[in-house]
Amino acid sequence: MTLAPNTYTDIPYEEKAKLIEEVMADHRYGEHLYGCYECGICVAACPSARFYDFSPRKIAQAAARQDVELMYEQMNDDVWNCSQCFSCTRCPRGNNPGGIITVLREVAVRNGLASARDALEGYGRVVYKIMSTGTQVSPDMLQPNAFPDWGPHVKAISDNVETWRKALPPETLHTTSTAWNVDEKTIIELYLIWQATGVMDMIGEVDEGLHMILEDVMEDVLDEAGYET
Ligand code: SF4
Ligand code: SF4
Repeated sequence: MTLAPNTYTDIPYEEKAKLIEEVMADHRYGEHLYGCYECGICVAACPSARFYDFSPRKIAQAAARQDVELMYEQMNDDVWNCSQCFSCTRCPRGNNPGGIITVLREVAVRNGLASARDALEGYGRVVYKIMSTGTQVSPDMLQPNAFPDWGPHVKAISDNVETWRKALPPETLHTTSTAWNVDEKTIIELYLIWQATGVMDMIGEVDEGLHMILEDVMEDVLDEAGYET
């Protein structure tokens, strides 16, 4: 492992190295990195690289060099600019910079890094919705004051969201508080998976309040279904 200019000077090198070792020990890591010859195809394909000071090539390069300082810096800063679209898998070398970023993010969250808490602070409502209902952002979250970048047409949609939804052909989409109907068996399975795989522990590391609320929601459902929580 090599040394690069140190940005997070207050963090001991050993602490950084421990986290990067955790990244490299992940079973997916080896499948995401086969070495990088800096062709830049991933950068050309990456939507985030067009709008931010961000480069999937630098992610692959830092990983290929096992540069602890730079990887730690990226784990705190760059990784939150990735939209996880995986366009970078066009890499002719077979690399998956977006996949490396997934692992870096997970380690950042699992270890409760302040940067991870900051990056995810604004997404509490979205995470709550996804994890409590088993669906993604719901139609009733389309509110003009919620996400300004959704544009000026949002008010017209939110005023008539029930009508719009009923116009959709599949009846499972005639919902507003969830993105679609999810049956109870699926919800129970999701709750059990999130608890068994440590996802709930990760939420607890970055947002204790959200963790408590989700635990309450899940416990009620699982208790009623006869599971010990
Ligand atoms: S496309 Fe692959 S080989 Fe080319 S710069 Fe990106 S990661 Fe490296
Ligand atoms: S997954 Fe991330 S790094 Fe890869 S192309 Fe998408 S935004 Fe860029």
